[in-house]
Amino acid sequence: MALNTTTFHNVINNELTSTTRTRHAINPATRQPNPEVPLSTAADLDRAVTAARQAFSKWSRTSVDERRAAAHAFADRLEAHTKDLVALLTQEQGKPLAQATIEVGMAVQWARELSGLVLPETVLEDTDSRQVIQRYVPLGVCAAIVPWNFPVLLAVGKIIPAVYTGNTVLVKPSPFTPYCGLKLAELATQCFPPGVVQALSGGDDLGPMITEHPGIDKISFTGSCATGRRVMASCAKSLKRLTLELGGNDPVIICEDVDIDAIVPKIGTLSFLCSGQICMVIKRLYIHESIYAEFRDKLIAYIQTLKSGPGTEADVFFGPVQNSMQYDKANDLLNAIKADGLKTISISGNSRPGAAAGYFIPPTIVDNPPDSSRVVQEEPFAPILPVLKWADEDEVVRRANASEYGLAASVWSRDFARARRMADRLEAGSVYVNSHFECAPWAPFGGVKMSGVGTEWGVNGLLGYCNSQTLWLHKG
Ligand code: NAD
Repeated sequence: MALNTTTFHNVINNELTSTTRTRHAINPATRQPNPEVPLSTAADLDRAVTAARQAFSKWSRTSVDERRAAAHAFADRLEAHTKDLVALLTQEQGKPLAQATIEVGMAVQWARELSGLVLPETVLEDTDSRQVIQRYVPLGVCAAIVPWNFPVLLAVGKIIPAVYTGNTVLVKPSPFTPYCGLKLAELATQCFPPGVVQALSGGDDLGPMITEHPGIDKISFTGSCATGRRVMASCAKSLKRLTLELGGNDPVIICEDVDIDAIVPKIGTLSFLCSGQICMVIKRLYIHESIYAEFRDKLIAYIQTLKSGPGTEADVFFGPVQNSMQYDKANDLLNAIKADGLKTISISGNSRPGAAAGYFIPPTIVDNPPDSSRVVQEEPFAPILPVLKWADEDEVVRRANASEYGLAASVWSRDFARARRMADRLEAGSVYVNSHFECAPWAPFGGVKMSGVGTEWGVNGLLGYCNSQTLWLHKG
């Protein structure tokens, strides 16, 4: 049966509920309004938290196998509705259908594989008289606060770890992209008991209401560093557990011995996926000076082959940026680049006609700007990439690390030992050699420095939804 993607509800206690007032987000490819969604109040939140607390007492005592079966049923529902979710994702987020298909496919995989991981239980001592065991127990009610760039994967990547470890979860999608998040919770009603997976859509006040709520035990937040700080300050009041997945400004170092023709398409794709709106795509590209000009020119030529336009058109790679705020931020950065007299190559010749209507930013390469410039220091979160020259290994590693962010970083070279030597010195939560932006449900993902606190995914990520408990068991 097709998923209804025209009407949208909160999901509270497995009931689809409405609110007196509603709001809507904008389709970024057309700037036309998307459908109305609930505008939740403090009373809606209270009802959801009460339902979540009630559900927790039973759900936390279910077996791991039971919870895994429910997670797999959810994965099956997502998979069965892939087509509808992909179309809705493109409509709300703007990313091209091909990239939306990858996101939904990853969400299905994440739902299955995260719930296949095994939490450790360690016998620390075992004698005739006493056994001491460390095990992991659920926290209670968790809230998943989700950004607008990956509304499906990042919601599922929080829902499953929370409920698989025995918690209940309340999903709050971004006000810019509330649609898929609400449908995920609607599908979850077919797989989980009431109160286990719920979702509320709202305005800018809903996030703070959630972080302040005394009935919530943990916040899993993905978003910007600025909001992350606010979330942490709010959680401090009740010592809520929290995981923060924040921004990035990923440096990538290209050594002089690379096969330029082979890697240019990879680097181009990994710099501009989702129109640069991914926390861990390439944000600073350091190219060895001896191949700088050739690499830059081939990168530009490659990007010229990629089409911009509405994500609904089959051959489009560059969709719009997601919202007017992001559009204004990107234009502000482009103006600063211009005012500073930096050399840019703007690639606008390959736009589909529909591109005129939406929040489209032409893909732009900034040619060897100073390290102190905004485009190097900040996370553009738009299709704007600074390419920079380097000469000395120590110097480029120092420059790569000279950032308040530390999400991901990579080194590309045919000399694996050299690349590994350089990679070992990079300060980031994920470090790659001859690759970037790889992730998996079984691998912990997180940032260092201002890029985050804690990890998600992998066993380590699951433990973020648990308390450690030490059992001292005297047998006599
Ligand atoms: P954002 O911080 O503006 O919003 C993220 C979420 O927080 C939204 O749901 C928003 O409604 C909510 N929110 C806003 N203010 C809040 C408050 N005071 N208290 C609680 N919740 C609040 O981020 P965004 O613009 O949606 O997303 C883009 C940012 O997210 C970028 O910086 C990007 O790098 C980062 N990001 C990080 C990761 C990661 O895994 N590290 C992944 C994706 C995006």
